[in-house]
Amino acid sequence: MTEFKELGLNDDILKGIKDLGYKEPFPIQEAVIPVLLAGRDVVGQAHTGSGKTAAFALAMLQKIKPRNGIQGLIMAPTRELAMQITEEIKKFGKYTKIRVVTVYGGQGMGIQLDALDRGVEIVVATPGRLIDHLKRGSIELRDITHIVLDEADTMLDMGFIDDISFILDLAPEDRVMSLYSATMPTEILRLSEEYLNNPKQFLLSADDLSGDGIDQSFLVIKDRDKFKYLIDFIKPIKRQCIVFCSTKYRTRDVAKFLHQEKFNAVAIEGDMSQHRREQTMGKFRSGKADILVATDVASRGIDVPTVELVINYDVPNQELLYFHRIGRTARAGAKGKAITFVSYSSVGDWNIIKRQIKVPLEDLNQKMGIQISIPDPLKRQMPSRRYGGQSRSNYSRGGRSGGYGRSHRDGDSRDDRGGGRKRYSDRGGKNSYGGRSRW
Ligand code: AMP
Repeated sequence: MTEFKELGLNDDILKGIKDLGYKEPFPIQEAVIPVLLAGRDVVGQAHTGSGKTAAFALAMLQKIKPRNGIQGLIMAPTRELAMQITEEIKKFGKYTKIRVVTVYGGQGMGIQLDALDRGVEIVVATPGRLIDHLKRGSIELRDITHIVLDEADTMLDMGFIDDISFILDLAPEDRVMSLYSATMPTEILRLSEEYLNNPKQFLLSADDLSGDGIDQSFLVIKDRDKFKYLIDFIKPIKRQCIVFCSTKYRTRDVAKFLHQEKFNAVAIEGDMSQHRREQTMGKFRSGKADILVATDVASRGIDVPTVELVINYDVPNQELLYFHRIGRTARAGAKGKAITFVSYSSVGDWNIIKRQIKVPLEDLNQKMGIQISIPDPLKRQMPSRRYGGQSRSNYSRGGRSGGYGRSHRDGDSRDDRGGGRKRYSDRGGKNSYGGRSRW
């Protein structure tokens, strides 16, 4: 049993925890606190009730200095949650000299201005009211060293995403940031890619991410052979199937090929209007289409119990996406299968995802006797498209200038990164799956 003091927390904070009667840290606290104390960013998939408040608050309390300006900023979607967080921080920080204020819409400005005047070190805020304070100068972010986005998916649903980007753009770059969300829709992943620096990811308490009940397997093949194998795997399927691709171009190409082969397939991707997406999903849901070819933009919210097989035509660029994708099968207690095609250039990405899979994983190369011969340079290549990879241009904070506007909302996470689009046009629009591939 790990104890709170083993996590690196100091005596003042340990006393506060003791008063609350917490005996041992919850898993999220055990995982997150040491990482935040070490100054690394965190993305945590966690629900309310997992103990995430203590996870971020304890680390923040320890790192913040009394009477040194506003150093901690916590953003939460609702007044109730913001107030609850403040109350918890006050309890945890009882023996520290850290002061905290809640800033939310619906309360008179006067009370908040008075509290800010007296001096605080941590602000817990809903985004809209925080912007009001920033505009009047009653809150400044220049001393911020620690930022938390709590219930990020709810903030997204409430339309706060642009406000959050506005606020984060004003905060110093040198800060420790953590983001918590019960689900990881594309917009949240994109936000974390843009604003967090090489975050450590935690998949916590997310029951639909266990992969339980799903037979998972993978096949390492050349990119140009994928289509042939796709057909082989789809043919015996009696019910429905989803094929996930990394970009909208791939999605369109694969759907087109499936049509040519007389499969009843529909495609869904971020560039389609909401109306067309709904129409397409309606066709799939009602069973009028057998196969859905989709980008990750569509993986959230697909809850079709008759999905028997998920094929990852391309390896997703994050493990969270992998679990979201495969979680589209084995719904409502049914059995499901997930097969991941791993092209030679994706072996590095796949190995990282593989480490997170806690259930037995079948190696189809072995089972089917398919030899692989990965060219040497690719073997040496580090994963480049993901957190912590060698070349992280898409994830670095330096890439903020493009902003994060509303126009991106319905976009596809990968397609919007420019490079993909260019590379596609480099191919002259041909469906050449051979040659050098990013997949
Ligand atoms: P949260 O997910 O942060 O809303 O926390 C859920 C509940 O668990 C709150 O009532 C906390 O006070 C409580 N809690 C958090 N951490 C612990 C712990 N280590 N031991 C016991 N209770 C805890």
